[in-house]
Amino acid sequence: MSDEIIDRSRPGEIEKRAVKAITEADTVDALEEERIRYLGRKGEITELLRSVGRMPVEERPALGNIINNVKRRIEELLETRLEQLASEVQEEVPFPGDPTLPGRSGWQGGPHILHKVLRDVKRIFFGMGYSLAEGPDVELDYYNFEALNFPPDHPSRDLQDTFYINRDILLRTQTSPVQVRYMEKHEPPLRIISPGRVYRNESPDPSHASEFYQMEGLYVDTDVSLGDLRNDVTFFIRSFFGMDAKVRFRPHFFPFPEPSAEVDMSCFGCKGSGCQICGKAGWIEIMGAGMVHPHVFRYAGYDPDAYTGFAFGMGIERIAMLKYGIDDIRRFLANDLRFLRQFWTESWAGVVE
Ligand SMILES: [Zn+2]
Repeated sequence: MSDEIIDRSRPGEIEKRAVKAITEADTVDALEEERIRYLGRKGEITELLRSVGRMPVEERPALGNIINNVKRRIEELLETRLEQLASEVQEEVPFPGDPTLPGRSGWQGGPHILHKVLRDVKRIFFGMGYSLAEGPDVELDYYNFEALNFPPDHPSRDLQDTFYINRDILLRTQTSPVQVRYMEKHEPPLRIISPGRVYRNESPDPSHASEFYQMEGLYVDTDVSLGDLRNDVTFFIRSFFGMDAKVRFRPHFFPFPEPSAEVDMSCFGCKGSGCQICGKAGWIEIMGAGMVHPHVFRYAGYDPDAYTGFAFGMGIERIAMLKYGIDDIRRFLANDLRFLRQFWTESWAGVVE
């Protein structure tokens, strides 16, 4: 009975069918079906191996050998075919989109308009030999007022609504305290600009903000004159607004320069004939300026008989608004991209401090 259990041509026949089926299997699932058909727990090869035990003892080793060789070849074939199918699957993933479309560039911001204006202003003054000086936003009353010739209870203090932290400490209302701090530590000659943020307890409206940028300039040496002040201020205004600007000084009172003046430039909108920008005046107020008061020199420890100097100060938002036709100071801090984007004419890569 044992003779009929295995037809000796059976392993070869199974192998032939398996090779064909595995080669033709065109999906991973189909291949798995073939694996189960031949090598699974009830697969044809498995069954065949199991029946070897029922063969005559002397035939078992040779027959087992043949079947095991067939099994190994089927296993190898399955593995090779699986790799082929896996790589084909990867190649067939469709490109997610139209490869002929132009690429999308990444989102890119640009310098804030105030940053640009401040940088342009600094460049002009650096070119004239000024250097940069900075001081704290949270300032002592002494530097913000007293050392600048605003004695306690002096009515001039009321001109600047101040955020007090306590009796002696406040948020600076002007960048002028930097002058005093700088003079305390340096001997003349000195020529500095001190841009920075200042704070006023104001109700915001189109021309007032509770925080904004100011820039002070200070020049101290042995023979500094009003003429020098006029030269530097005029050079700045023409460099920033245009070479045809006319400049005039109008007497005005500020506590710490003496004499002091407001500086106007001829309106660039109408060249002096009167328009909306200048309120029909033909002139636009640009900054306050004057000669440094002897009291201020004394506070800083300079001999007012040995040195003279001038100082000027302007609002950075104000000159930005004038130059770029911006109608409301609140726009600078509103973070409205529709506003900010208009000034992104250069990338950050072009920004040099
Ligand atoms: Zn005008």
